[in-house]
Amino acid sequence: MDSPRRSSVIVVGAGISGISAAKVLAENGIEDLVILEATDRIGGRIRKENFDGVCVELGAGWIAGVGGKEANPVWELAANLGLRTCFSDYSNARYNIYDRSGKIFPSGLAADSYKKAVESAMEKLRKLQANQAGELIEPTWCTPKTPIELAIDFILHDFEMAEVEPISTFVDFGEREFLVADERGYDYLLYKMAEEFLLTSEGKILDTRLKLNEVVREVQHSRNGVIVKTEDGRIYEANYVIMSASIGVLQSNLISFSPPLPRWKTEAIEKCAVMVYTKIFLKFPYKFWPCGPEKEFFIYAHERRGYYTFWQHMENAYPGSNTLVVTLTNGESKRVEAQSDEETMKEAMGVLRDMFGTDIPDATDILVPRWYTNRFQRGCYSDYPMISNNHEIQKIKAPVGRVFFTGEHTSERFSGYVHGAYLAGIETSQSVVEDIRLLKERETENQTFLLEPFLASLTLSQTEAVSNMHKCDIPAQLCISSNLGLSEAIL
Ligand SMILES: Cc1cc2nc3c(=O)[nH]c(=O)nc-3n(C[C@H](O)[C@H](O)[C@H](O)COP(=O)(O)OP(=O)(O)OC[C@H]3O[C@@H](n4cnc5c(N)ncnc54)[C@H](O)[C@@H]3O)c2cc1C
Repeated sequence: MDSPRRSSVIVVGAGISGISAAKVLAENGIEDLVILEATDRIGGRIRKENFDGVCVELGAGWIAGVGGKEANPVWELAANLGLRTCFSDYSNARYNIYDRSGKIFPSGLAADSYKKAVESAMEKLRKLQANQAGELIEPTWCTPKTPIELAIDFILHDFEMAEVEPISTFVDFGEREFLVADERGYDYLLYKMAEEFLLTSEGKILDTRLKLNEVVREVQHSRNGVIVKTEDGRIYEANYVIMSASIGVLQSNLISFSPPLPRWKTEAIEKCAVMVYTKIFLKFPYKFWPCGPEKEFFIYAHERRGYYTFWQHMENAYPGSNTLVVTLTNGESKRVEAQSDEETMKEAMGVLRDMFGTDIPDATDILVPRWYTNRFQRGCYSDYPMISNNHEIQKIKAPVGRVFFTGEHTSERFSGYVHGAYLAGIETSQSVVEDIRLLKERETENQTFLLEPFLASLTLSQTEAVSNMHKCDIPAQLCISSNLGLSEAIL
């Protein structure tokens, strides 16, 4: 095999953090870069799919954090491209809670249960903070028991923690959330971003610096650079690597590092919890669910926490699509990923018949994304503890020699979100650019340092040569030129 051409930087992964990282490198004049992406497309966890004629987002769906004092950069990108979005008002979901016999809980009872759950979660948070500060306080918050309590607990903890703790996304960028509902897909943002620095034509990326279907398996690194090996035996060399693979991938054995990453790093990576979040799409011949105002989201209360709890109809996003989405998380997601789609459809239909009666039609199609089983993802996003001091994120983000890390899991303020990944890519690249600048500066200093004694001796020799001109028979011209010859040889 030919010896690999050495690039300045290899970016592993072409999700939004990898693409934003590569774009910043290119903008800083580092154009000899290579992007290695394991799959056949860019976007990573931003991924659309055609589901019976409707473009659905299997991964990120919302732009979270809009309407605040600062502009969410992803919202700005979407607005500039005219991406179609729909405002999502989750707060109504709590008034559309169904029990197993299809009755909606009275709004007073639901509001009351919700208020209690928020107070309990806040109490829990305060006590956890106190315990962390060394005051050991006995936990007294009540654990949810009834189906409605369990359903609300699920909504609160797996979706709406913003009501309990200040989440940077909502504090900085605003509390509103918009669902991307555009036939071009959420990933259209990435293609437009890529277009700014990669060669493209008619919506396709033709640039040979983007290498799709290249699964990185090994990163050898030293103070002089990196060698990256892929599954099919290809070798890439560079001065730096930016690793944007997800936290789930870093926890798996897909990519090995040689020498291994230091213990403080691997321990922090291991400790990070990974959230699994599964949006299951179901297509029907006609709609049988209420579609009026404030009915977009509805909840199913079951004695098993998280059992097909959170539902959304797609009529606002795609009118006439007759599509429902139900969201499962963590244990329920893993369980469903491991079973057949027919089994999942049977379960979902059972739940819908509980809520809307036995006469409703069977779903005609189902789509179950499998983010956890996917070896290039192994989950959906990092889930740092509610009270965390960012030390763990800082360790996960910290470079190890020439290996730099990026991705949503390295964002101190916005981990888990698309804008977190986007900003992390920019930040990591800026660090690499700065490292390259410092290295160049040091090299120049070293060269000057090495040359200084010589230049001094050169000056001395020249002076001596001239003053000795009359003392010896060697012509001054010759003395000087022979010295210059030596200095040129050293340079
Ligand atoms: C189901 C789901 C719902 C979500 N909902 C939202 C939402 O509504 N709003 C929001 O803001 N965020 C949401 N997120 C989170 C958001 O999608 C992510 O935070 C963001 O897209 C992560 O981008 P990234 O660049 O860090 O990682 P990724 O997009 O995962 O990019 C990493 C890339 O690395 C590649 N890769 C992995 N291993 C290798 C390897 N060995 N060699 C080469 N390439 C490799 C992967 O294929 C991938 O393309 C959701 C995520 C999921 C999965």
